[in-house]
Amino acid sequence: METIPFNRPFMTGKELQYISEAHLQGHLAGDGLFSRKCEAFMEQQFGIARSLLTHSCTAALEMSAILVDISPGDEVILPSYTFVSTANAFAKLGATPVFVDIRPDTLNLNEELVEAAITPQTKCIVPVHYAGVSCEMDEIMRVGSDHGIAVIEDAAQGFGSTYRGKPLGSLGDLGTLSFHETKNIISGEGGALLVRDPELALRAEIVREKGTNRRAFFRGQVDKYTWVDVGSSYLPSDLIAAYLWAQLEESDEITRRRKAIWDRYHEAFAAAEEGELCRRPIIPDHCSHNAHMYYLLLPDRARRDRFIDLMRGEEDILTVFHYIPLHSAPKGQEVGRVSGEIATTEELAGRLVRLPMWLGLEPHQDRVIESSLRVLEKIS
Ligand SMILES: *Cc1c(COP(=O)(O)O)cnc(C)c1O
Repeated sequence: METIPFNRPFMTGKELQYISEAHLQGHLAGDGLFSRKCEAFMEQQFGIARSLLTHSCTAALEMSAILVDISPGDEVILPSYTFVSTANAFAKLGATPVFVDIRPDTLNLNEELVEAAITPQTKCIVPVHYAGVSCEMDEIMRVGSDHGIAVIEDAAQGFGSTYRGKPLGSLGDLGTLSFHETKNIISGEGGALLVRDPELALRAEIVREKGTNRRAFFRGQVDKYTWVDVGSSYLPSDLIAAYLWAQLEESDEITRRRKAIWDRYHEAFAAAEEGELCRRPIIPDHCSHNAHMYYLLLPDRARRDRFIDLMRGEEDILTVFHYIPLHSAPKGQEVGRVSGEIATTEELAGRLVRLPMWLGLEPHQDRVIESSLRVLEKIS
């Protein structure tokens, strides 16, 4: 039996053609023709002042930390159930990650617990849109604005999703995207920073260009370029942007095809949910999602672990769990703290399993479904 992988990167077929065009242009550094095409596309799609390509979502989060002036002793509110970069970008500048529990339905930051976590040291709130399903942004933005605290969206998984009709990444003061090969729209490694405020966008350009006003210089706004702020080199080569452009052009179609796979899973596990063998993802009515991930919540950790083992050992299908909560990780314990109870995070992280989800899975999907149902019965 052929092993079914958990993920396989999807390519549209145009990537190498665009890379070869970028090569012919002879502009290999950042901010070339393809970078500008990608950024203009995203500025339109997200309806924001500026989109800046970065090496990764991690880089976009690091830029965000600089842009909100994180300094030692500051606090950042975020979920513990997230990727390490959500915390690291702030911790590396000396901030304390303050972990808040998640909602039991979407596994997103529980917006009702955010206000209680705020102290005079709080600098920003970083909601993470897990599985491409939106956090409750109205309430999070209200808390941010009542307390004068910035909101930075970790929309690494959220390209193509919306909250009350608005694209994820465009709702906070800053938004960060990932184009890592495990995401929906990819360039191998890659990301973007989305900036709503034009003033802040000018500073973001400087931070991204090693702390220089090089971009303003090329626009003819200053007559020489020089060191004006802290920063680093956060811009990708135009070769990477060329690859990304092939994906962005097809992004609607990619989302549509992923949704078809997601919907088929969802229908297939309805009866198993009825029979209390598993719980399916819950999508609030006011959120549209990009089918980034299909997961199941099993009754407990032991059965989740057994599910993964049997799927691999007996069915040749790779399924995986997700985050080890950051508050329980060695570095999280050293530099972070928990606000209030974190029981939902601890419970659900141990019960979650992700099923294969990639374009091209379609002809194998029945096998994944049949195997999953068989294993769910066996461990029940
Ligand atoms: C993938 C991911 C990141 C990191 O993205 P990179 O582009 O690999 O740096 C950050 N946060 C979340 C929630 C992610 O899923």
